[in-house]
Amino acid sequence: MSSVEKHNHAEGVSADNCLFCKIAAGKIPSRKVYEDDELLAFHDINPWAPVHFLMIPKAHIASMAQVGPEHESLLGRMMVLAPRLALEQGCRPYPEGGYRIVTNTGAEGGQEVHHLHIHVMGGPRPWLRG
Ligand code: AMP
Ligand code: ZN
Repeated sequence: MSSVEKHNHAEGVSADNCLFCKIAAGKIPSRKVYEDDELLAFHDINPWAPVHFLMIPKAHIASMAQVGPEHESLLGRMMVLAPRLALEQGCRPYPEGGYRIVTNTGAEGGQEVHHLHIHVMGGPRPWLRG
């Protein structure tokens, strides 16, 4: 068992029992924004802002607390892709427009779904939250 698997096991979370793994596998439907071999982006079901989508790695990583050097290129790809998708989804360009990129980590970080994801939120204010 890897250290990530050990952690997930301890938390009662595994790829078999993970909402975003099921979305990545197409077992639960989502409104897709982007997909490639490694990544999936889809609209948040409960948006805070006019534009609000999530981006996940397809592989199960529980949170930012589990990332290591082996994930550098994956996380780099996510951060490079997010601005492009934000504009495609209707966020206005920087500096007048823009967006927020948020990653909640752990209970005190406000994380509810324990599969690593970034929130990308934007569009005209006021927003519902954030
Ligand atoms: P977090 O609190 O950072 O773990 O955020 C989890 C996010 O997942 C929340 O903003 C939820 O609205 C969103 N969410 C939960 N279930 C779904 C779903 N089936 N499809 C899309 N978004 C979801
Ligand atoms: Zn998962």
